[in-house]
Amino acid sequence: MKQRILIIGSGFAGMWAAVSAARLAYLQNNDAVEIAVLAPQPELRVRPRFYEANVATTTADLQPLFAELDIRFITGHAERIDAAENRVWYKTLQSDTTFIPYDKLILASGSHLHHFGIKGIAEYGFDIDQLDTAQRLEDHLNGLKNQPESAARNTVVVCGGGFTGIELATELPSRLKTLFGPHSKTKVVVVEKGSVIGGRYSEALRNIIREASDELGVEWRLNAGIEMVDAEGVTLQDGSRINASTVVWTAGVKANPLGENLTADRDALGRFVVSPELQIPGYSNIYATGDMAHAKTDDVGNTALMTCQHAIQLGKFAGHNAAASLLGMEGLPYRQQNYVTCLDLGAWGAVYTEGWDQQVKLVREEGKKLKIAITNELIYPPKADREIAFAAADPLAKFV
Ligand SMILES: Cc1cc2nc3c(=O)[nH]c(=O)nc-3n(C[C@H](O)[C@H](O)[C@H](O)COP(=O)(O)OP(=O)(O)OC[C@H]3O[C@@H](n4cnc5c(N)ncnc54)[C@H](O)[C@@H]3O)c2cc1C
Repeated sequence: MKQRILIIGSGFAGMWAAVSAARLAYLQNNDAVEIAVLAPQPELRVRPRFYEANVATTTADLQPLFAELDIRFITGHAERIDAAENRVWYKTLQSDTTFIPYDKLILASGSHLHHFGIKGIAEYGFDIDQLDTAQRLEDHLNGLKNQPESAARNTVVVCGGGFTGIELATELPSRLKTLFGPHSKTKVVVVEKGSVIGGRYSEALRNIIREASDELGVEWRLNAGIEMVDAEGVTLQDGSRINASTVVWTAGVKANPLGENLTADRDALGRFVVSPELQIPGYSNIYATGDMAHAKTDDVGNTALMTCQHAIQLGKFAGHNAAASLLGMEGLPYRQQNYVTCLDLGAWGAVYTEGWDQQVKLVREEGKKLKIAITNELIYPPKADREIAFAAADPLAKFV
């Protein structure tokens, strides 16, 4: 009977975990390992593109790749891990509850936005965290076109000035002009708790974010928190109001709660604190990867961020190590020394940095070309070709 590696999630980490596990089994000439992916749909949803228009097009079908590599896909939503019995309970497409046993389990169920219980945000706010919520925002913006012109209609409040908030806010001025006409008076306001624009980034990167915001007319309300959201806009914690038909929450991401019944350490973001081989301590046959894993990237104190650049590599290592362990081989400690960022800044262009100290290397058009190459090609699934996919899935091959 085959032994099964079960992977929960078909995002960046889950997809690469599956391909990487399939690669090692193939290289070892072992066909007694089944690799199965359990997720709601057999597609990769390219979350880094959810701030763009036409969001429905930002997905990639994984069926041809999985078919080529003999990876089994199971449609379902995992609900509970029974670590004592080595099985996962899940809901099928027909809403029946059933279970699937595993020999090795990889948790790659990603993350989701956290609203911090802000009053009114669930009823009146939007977000771009998942495909359906990003689509809801897009439908809402398109619908505003048919409403009478007003300051509130033409105003978008972006709550949170982190990576996602900046990319959305700088994209919006041109998107709103396309919707409401080139001469419309539109307004985009970023409400940010910190006292500095781009406060988490290097000074060089901060300066560029400020320059792009000024050029695009994106306003920042610093040292400001959202008190409540209603149908007419937001009230800030200092009591001031911004009237807006569109309020988008972007701040605060948490790891998926799956596995909360496991007795294991999680960090402040809800990620499992994993071993160098990405195992959950105390559960040698369960791995956490991607946005589910708090993992050291090097020996100088850096840890993986909730980014797809880290999720892709974490996935490759998790898949490799789960397969290695089934095949009686040594695992590979996860390492990812290089770190880059590429931040889209709308019509201004984009900025590309290298290193954890974020040295600016490319700006404006040059940066934009690279951003498009990354988000439209590099992070997409490999071609459904065994040789190409396996070469790309090697955890030790250079990625960025
Ligand atoms: C708007 C936005 C912009 C971003 N921009 C960037 C960027 O520019 N650069 C960058 O590097 N990163 C960016 N990120 C972060 C990046 O998208 C994530 O770090 C990455 O998607 C994490 O990959 P993952 O595979 O861990 O999780 P995900 O990509 O979230 O995949 C999770 C998978 O698990 C499945 N799943 C969830 N729950 C269950 C369940 N219970 N049962 C079965 N399956 C389940 C989901 O359907 C999905 O297939 C951005 C994120 C967002 C939201």
